[in-house]
Amino acid sequence: MNNFEKLQGRLAAGETILMDGGMGSEIERRGLASPTTWSGGPMLTHPQVVRDIHQEYIEAGAEVIITNTFGTGRDMLEHGNIEDKVAEANRLGIEAAVQARRNSGTEGSVVIAASVSTMAPKAHAEVPVPYEKALETYREQLGELAKGDPDVAVGEMLVRISDTLAVIEAATELGLPVWVGLSLVRDGDGLYLGIQDRHGGESLQDAMDAIRDKNVASVFIMHTPVDDTGPGLEIVRKDWVGIFGAYAHFPRDAGPMDPQRYLEYAKGWSEQGARIIGGCCGTGPGHIRALSEWLSGSHST
Ligand SMILES: [Zn+2]
Repeated sequence: MNNFEKLQGRLAAGETILMDGGMGSEIERRGLASPTTWSGGPMLTHPQVVRDIHQEYIEAGAEVIITNTFGTGRDMLEHGNIEDKVAEANRLGIEAAVQARRNSGTEGSVVIAASVSTMAPKAHAEVPVPYEKALETYREQLGELAKGDPDVAVGEMLVRISDTLAVIEAATELGLPVWVGLSLVRDGDGLYLGIQDRHGGESLQDAMDAIRDKNVASVFIMHTPVDDTGPGLEIVRKDWVGIFGAYAHFPRDAGPMDPQRYLEYAKGWSEQGARIIGGCCGTGPGHIRALSEWLSGSHST
């Protein structure tokens, strides 16, 4: 049984699984984030830092770690004029996670999720990318990542339905189970796919309708403000019969969030039925440790 099957077994048995916390923000905290490729450039220049961050999360209790390849797709590397490094950046990305798992002696349990994200999420997300182009880009990146044997593929900060469907198709072609991570913004009473802005105007409900019959192992509300994550999960749980989870972020200008306060949000998501929980931008090993202590406490009672 591989680690993903073990995870599925634990979920089927009713367990809640702990994911890691933010990666880009941890790289930034070390002064290494790139102005053009965010966490993508540091993957090439500082792979040992990325490995150490993974290891810190495993030591804090994370049972799922996400590769630092959110910013290593061709479209992201193009922003830094290093698009000839797609294969190398993604090889280093999966290697850093595999090494961290080995160093921490958790090869038989920790799940490695190979990350890809919405194409160029910060630049013109409102302009749709043709489906075939998105598919080709995800195919290339996931193909490189698959060489390192990840347990699952995860599409992150997905803010377009077309990209979401392209990630699912590319991962499925490679024989990888796939997680879908949707990012939300609030506009009035509605929740829409987006980061800072509504972009194409597709709603969370539109996205759920589009993926309902697809081969998706779990759905996540992620990189979404903590206060909008619960309302997003409310929409997900109404028509998603499978596993869902959450890993939220909080705005940088609001300052750091106390781990105990983040934990209170996470408890709420758990009550809503979220079964895989972690943190996104702004959360660090301290937040994951707080979640771990809570989960290990609730398991023993
Ligand atoms: Zn984030």
